[in-house]
Amino acid sequence: MEMMGMCAVCGTPGVMFTCRICGRMVCATHFNPATGTCVECGGRMV
Ligand SMILES: [Zn+2]
Ligand SMILES: [Zn+2]
Repeated sequence: MEMMGMCAVCGTPGVMFTCRICGRMVCATHFNPATGTCVECGGRMV
């Protein structure tokens, strides 16, 4: 389920996704839908 909030990584407000590991809300840019985690927990994107 999508939520409105602020990205914990870049601070951009908008529709956020919740990391299933750390529970932080992150934007689509910093969320990895393949793993259900934020990039800091499950990705290697810089
Ligand atoms: Zn972000
Ligand atoms: Zn995370």
